[in-house]
Amino acid sequence: MDKIETQIGGIEKIDEAVRLLHEGEVVVIPTETVYGLAANALNAKAVKKIFLAKGRPQDNPLIVHIEDANKAKMVAVDIPESAYLLWEEFSPGPLTIVLKKHPLVPYVTTAGLETVGIRIPNNELALETIRRSNLPLAAPSANISGRVSPTEARFVYDDMNGKIPLILDGGPCKVGIESTVLDLTKETPTILRPGAITEDMLSACLGKVVNHKGKVVRAASPGMKYAHYKPMCACFAAKTSDEAKELYNHFTNSLVIARQDFLDTCDVDNKIHLGETPEECMRNYFRILRENENIYDVIIIESFENEPQYLALQNRIAKATEKPDKI
Ligand code: AMP
Ligand code: MG
Repeated sequence: MDKIETQIGGIEKIDEAVRLLHEGEVVVIPTETVYGLAANALNAKAVKKIFLAKGRPQDNPLIVHIEDANKAKMVAVDIPESAYLLWEEFSPGPLTIVLKKHPLVPYVTTAGLETVGIRIPNNELALETIRRSNLPLAAPSANISGRVSPTEARFVYDDMNGKIPLILDGGPCKVGIESTVLDLTKETPTILRPGAITEDMLSACLGKVVNHKGKVVRAASPGMKYAHYKPMCACFAAKTSDEAKELYNHFTNSLVIARQDFLDTCDVDNKIHLGETPEECMRNYFRILRENENIYDVIIIESFENEPQYLALQNRIAKATEKPDKI
């Protein structure tokens, strides 16, 4: 790949972003979940550049970003009433809905699937870019494949400098982990990936929702089989502060990240407060990993295994701490 100069800019760069997108280039947009590596979802050549820049396996589908529910017909067919109910309730927001794909959406975008994941991001810079370009934008997280998702422009720059022409900087992401992915092509709506929109919120809107909690999902949602959200250093999850301290002392140059009560009872030198509420912890999690993965050799993270309100975060912690018996 030719090395290109990567610019970073704000709202003043939207017109340039739109021009680049129309030329079939890749541009980074901020969203409320994480930063996205965006290209025209209907242009197979442009979408291939996303895979190239990320080093993403080709059987991992991309989420298509649109500005409002009326545009869904550009990329999906047979859209059920339930999708409109969900968009009414949760959009713009961190919810991706999987529907039957429109014939104009190339298979490179959906990784060969007959379905397409659609999302309306809750970020003005992203929405304005979509509106002005009048294009559906395929956009996976703007990290090198397998690495921690970027929640600030500086982290995108670390991974994408020299590979793409422009990063739109919208400040730190407000949600901080990727969207909930809900499949509406199944008989019962099925959560393929947990996120900030929870099973309870979805079932309050739709009635019954199936949540595989990341287990059966591997087959249904191809991307889930790959290693994800992996920091550059080793990571462990600890259920108690005693367990964290034991791990900490076993290794050298370690760090513990956790809620305050956990830290208060964990007698170690290097510790960072993750947050208190699920929202705060989600918002800080990827940033703390990115800021510390090159400083420490081992990061020990509080485990939220038995706290359902932290399910989405625990899913990312499980991935970061997964041992490499598979890729
Ligand atoms: P990323 O944008 O990097 O967070 O990855 C998007 C993820 O959304 C993929 O890895 C899949 O797990 C999921 N996804 C996107 N499109 C589909 C689809 N058509 N069917 C099932 N899962 C999807
Ligand atoms: Mg990703």
